[in-house]
Amino acid sequence: MYAIVDIETTGGYASGNNITEIAIFRFDGKEVTDCYHTLINPEQRIPSFITSLTGITTEMVEDAPTFSEVAQDILDFTEGCVFVAHNVNFDFTFLKQSFKTLDLNFERKKLCTVRLSRKIFPKLPSYSLGNLCGSLNIEITDRHRAKGDAEATVKLLKLLLENDQEKFIDQSLHRHSRETLLPAHLPREQFDALPEEPGVYYFHDHKSKVIYVGKAINIKKRVISHFSGKQNSKQSQRFMNEIYSVSFERCGSELISLLLESNEIKRYWPAYNRSQKRVVKNYCIYQYTDQQGYTRLSVGLIQKFQQPILSFRTAVEARTFLLEAAHEHQLCGRLCGLQKSSVSCTQASLLSSCKVCEQGEDLSRYNKKVARTVLTFAEQQVTLAIKQKGRTQEEYAVVLMESGRYLGYGFVPQDIACTSFEELKAYIHLYPDNQDVRGIIENYTYRADESSVMYF
Ligand SMILES: [Zn+2]
Repeated sequence: MYAIVDIETTGGYASGNNITEIAIFRFDGKEVTDCYHTLINPEQRIPSFITSLTGITTEMVEDAPTFSEVAQDILDFTEGCVFVAHNVNFDFTFLKQSFKTLDLNFERKKLCTVRLSRKIFPKLPSYSLGNLCGSLNIEITDRHRAKGDAEATVKLLKLLLENDQEKFIDQSLHRHSRETLLPAHLPREQFDALPEEPGVYYFHDHKSKVIYVGKAINIKKRVISHFSGKQNSKQSQRFMNEIYSVSFERCGSELISLLLESNEIKRYWPAYNRSQKRVVKNYCIYQYTDQQGYTRLSVGLIQKFQQPILSFRTAVEARTFLLEAAHEHQLCGRLCGLQKSSVSCTQASLLSSCKVCEQGEDLSRYNKKVARTVLTFAEQQVTLAIKQKGRTQEEYAVVLMESGRYLGYGFVPQDIACTSFEELKAYIHLYPDNQDVRGIIENYTYRADESSVMYF
């Protein structure tokens, strides 16, 4: 149960000032169940500037009960509730001090709708109650009167509850909030040390083995979300129990986080990533010389020992590409593995005429034709550098791709110009090339603003 409170006072700070009005709505998270509202005689004059703000005059409160007369009501009404207010410390401090003058102790769990709004609805221009209600389309009547403001705060809290995907409300209600959320074996210091920056994080088991790798724009926030989600499945319970430590690598940007994550998943093959990440088979076009001396092109899985000329995600993509190239450059379909070798190109109607199949083309002429075709493949492969934010102001990051192959990424001091590909190469850490990382880079270059991508 929440008690949403708003008070009006004779001034902006608690010492020397008193409460002139209070409104409390009891709210069960869905509906208002009860409302308490009264003017309070502050036993002092209300300054005129306050009257002009709230509309409450000294005359209005002359016959109202004093705080001591309503103190018990307020205690009863907020008993067992979470005390909620817009800028909770203001209202709470006033009440606490008023109770103190009566030798009463006032303790409640608190929630601040300003703080929560900043977290749940970030980047709004202002978090004053009036402006927030404007931004969030909350109707507010009787502005600067306790009842009107408290009512608006109820509506705001309702919106906050509905939009609280990161469970900030639960977290704020636990005094050692994050501690209660953390997996049992994970030391709090490790969690606290996580940066709120882009990068890759690793969960380790009791033997320090990596059991999960993830990437995030905000590492800390992402790690919390693992713990605050519903953990009712057996798998997620087991996962939580196996986490003994967390480590991280700052990346400076989302792109580099994605590239590193992809590399680390392939490197560690962590147990809890396996269900999500499919094995990517890389197909390629490769070339070899057959027994007769013909240069043949073929589509196949990439093998460690061979240098693929071009690689593709699927065999179909690779075959389609080769088919088009064969048409364009008049290569023999049989020698490109596009049809059975017992059938001639014309019979298979792959090509209208094939000089190899018709016995008219000599070997060296044909091989030269294949070599020229392969050269055109290489022309399609880009050499580029992508510039990204570094981990600090003093550096920037580059991702390099050379002739279509991913080389790796690195961090370059700001005073080194990003103009020479060869010079940039000296700063990068080499990473294995594969279709996944090429896909990540391709996706990026499609969407990126042109200033961050340089073609060489
Ligand atoms: Zn042929």
